[in-house]
Amino acid sequence: MTPVGEFCGRTVAVFGLARSGLAACRALLAGGAHTAADDDDAASRARAAAAGIGMADLRHADWRRFAALILAPGVPIADPAPHWTVPLARAAGVPIIGDIELFCRTRARHCPEAPLIAITGTNGKSTTTALIAHLLRAAGRDVQLGGNIGTAVLALEPPRADRVHVLEISSFQIELAPSLRPSIGVLLNISPDHLDRHGSMPAYAGLKARLVSGAERAIIATDDAWCADIATRLLAQGRRVERLSAAARPAHGWYADGTRLIADAPWTGPVGAFADLAGIASLRGRHNVQNALAASAAALAAGLAPHEVAAALATFPGLPHRLEEVGRLGPVLFVNDSKATNAESTATAIAAFDGGIFLILGGRSKAGGIATLLPRLGGIAKVYLIGEAMPEFAASLEGRVAFECAGTLAAALAAAVRDATGKGTAQPAHPVVLLSPACASFDQFANFEARGDAFRALVRSLPGIAC
Ligand code: ADP
Repeated sequence: MTPVGEFCGRTVAVFGLARSGLAACRALLAGGAHTAADDDDAASRARAAAAGIGMADLRHADWRRFAALILAPGVPIADPAPHWTVPLARAAGVPIIGDIELFCRTRARHCPEAPLIAITGTNGKSTTTALIAHLLRAAGRDVQLGGNIGTAVLALEPPRADRVHVLEISSFQIELAPSLRPSIGVLLNISPDHLDRHGSMPAYAGLKARLVSGAERAIIATDDAWCADIATRLLAQGRRVERLSAAARPAHGWYADGTRLIADAPWTGPVGAFADLAGIASLRGRHNVQNALAASAAALAAGLAPHEVAAALATFPGLPHRLEEVGRLGPVLFVNDSKATNAESTATAIAAFDGGIFLILGGRSKAGGIATLLPRLGGIAKVYLIGEAMPEFAASLEGRVAFECAGTLAAALAAAVRDATGKGTAQPAHPVVLLSPACASFDQFANFEARGDAFRALVRSLPGIAC
């Protein structure tokens, strides 16, 4: 844990008592502060009280006694409507910040030289964060991995000069962390997401830009216009920026030739081709070229040698539920991509294979359904529909691709196995049974992890499966 001493002897309001809120309470208490913690959910309040955390009814509290309000990142500060704590804090002049801000202030006070690598972007944050941590650990570094992935930042070990914090940071967390100044900031991509919370694309891109604007060194993938613009602006200000592209060869920077990664970068000098992703199952697909380039650039900026990076890329285990290989049955590969909760992510998954895909699709449909997926169905042998979205997706797919309405995950898998093993339709050379649902899971599962776990368990119970 990282004790937060900044508010020693004072009382801090904490709203939102899930993972990061509870860790913030513990860190504040360890630093000598008192907490006035609250949550809209009675079970969360009871859990926190049972853990010995100082509670308060914040609706009826005297806010003038609070030194700050620590807001959980899921709680809206402005759009679509400010949470009820926000006007109460503002009326009393109480600053509103998040747990990342507490960490940054603690680092600035006790060990400003402690290495901090922060990663953001609309997609690929978790993969890139985990990959950077993996590369550094493989080189023997003391690494603390967390933030928006896994462990809440304040539950990690404290910053130290010989310890690297590698933190995934969401736009919500950036919004509540005005003094976020990482040693290395990584911005992967910006595409429309969470606009209900951030109002507009310029507002959302502005938040993402803050992470790299505050960084001593910035690594920016310039494959979309928003990120390219941010990189250009920072370079014009004379800032240390390393650019990369998974789609084109930048004038200076990092790029790929197929699966070969190439660095021609101002920080490092021209390194040349230093690694090849071919055959690394955990980094399959064009999107992972971007993630691997960004992670490699961060690892080199942190002092690793190109050959160390190349060797460690090959041993990256990958993250569960993101193009995760879960078994083989003869030539048939089974892949769990349950994290694909929208059409864009499913299109990314489809593009990562050379066809022969038996795709399990469906759940609770997102706005727009699978409209953006329809032109990208090349390589699909057949689709198996599940969940609430079944009638909607069946209407969308009619006349475009072979499909059947399976209903449940178990029925869909059974039908896909029948077809992929050649008992139904003609068998492609490299069949892939892919769960990449383009939907939320809540109609049939608690979350995407539960859906992916169920798929993995079903696959692993197939007779003759090799894991
Ligand atoms: P995040 O933490 O940002 O949600 P993940 O690493 O968990 O990112 O990946 C989530 C999904 O986003 C993946 O399943 C994949 O479909 C897609 N994705 C991953 N990396 C990228 C990328 N660099 N560009 C576009 N899409 C990506």
